[in-house]
Amino acid sequence: MELKPENIIVNPGEFVSLDDYTPEYTGTYQKKGQTTKRLKKLHKQLLELQGLLYAESQHALLIILQGMDTCGKDGTIRRVMGGINVQGCDVVSFKVPTADELSRDFLWRAHKVVPSKGKIGIFNRSHYEDVLVVRVHNLVPEPVWSQRYQQINDFERMLVENGTVVLKFFLHISKDEQKARLESRINDPTKHWKVEASDIRERAYWEDYMRAYEVVLQRCSTDWAPWYVIPANKKWYRNLVITECIVDRLKKLNMKYPEPAIDITKFYPIR
Ligand code: AMP
Ligand code: MG
Repeated sequence: MELKPENIIVNPGEFVSLDDYTPEYTGTYQKKGQTTKRLKKLHKQLLELQGLLYAESQHALLIILQGMDTCGKDGTIRRVMGGINVQGCDVVSFKVPTADELSRDFLWRAHKVVPSKGKIGIFNRSHYEDVLVVRVHNLVPEPVWSQRYQQINDFERMLVENGTVVLKFFLHISKDEQKARLESRINDPTKHWKVEASDIRERAYWEDYMRAYEVVLQRCSTDWAPWYVIPANKKWYRNLVITECIVDRLKKLNMKYPEPAIDITKFYPIR
């Protein structure tokens, strides 16, 4: 199946109920092996497009990954971006804000680390935490967080107007799938380091998070910076869909290798 990114894009202002999106969805594929060839081809295209992005240096690409604990943000970075040139890519993980970060506006720490032209920047979590965990736990008063949706849209629009392409992926897993993934981490000594008390604590707020995500998808999927809901129970399908979306978007930039700034024929023959 040729996957169409427009099928999983959230239309601006569209009412979103996450129950309508099944995390188990794998299109017409039943197993990983059926996607290997397509994914390999996409990886090759991604590598070429990244080279072009870097050479042309007219655009930056910002990829935002959000989702519940164990949804696969780290795995996506490893599998989707693993094949590209590390020189052209920066990954930033957003943790609990430091005192220094909290003493500024919530977008300060994000703006500081957006990718420069020619580069791909990946946000592992992002400024959206400030309307997700912050909203679920009332870490700031409602009048403060409720203004942030508009502030985020304005911020992202400014980035886009200045040459950054913004893609936002919500990695949608089911609560049962999270349980299975947490259990497998607990049963595997090599994965114990990944288990945090907060994973179990936040799981108890699952429904609150789903509602908070629905508001994010509804209010912050914009023409200039769309949200994609990625069916993420099956890791291989998640990887395929995300890679497809990135390749599709980069192709639309119609990038070209820049003309040489000097007459390179003058250097030939090389002595
Ligand atoms: P991890 O991604 O597993 O390393 O965990 C990072 C933790 O930092 C998560 O529990 C996030 O919810 C939390 N976090 C990230 N940004 C914020 C924020 N702005 N306010 C509060 N907690 C945050
Ligand atoms: Mg974690």
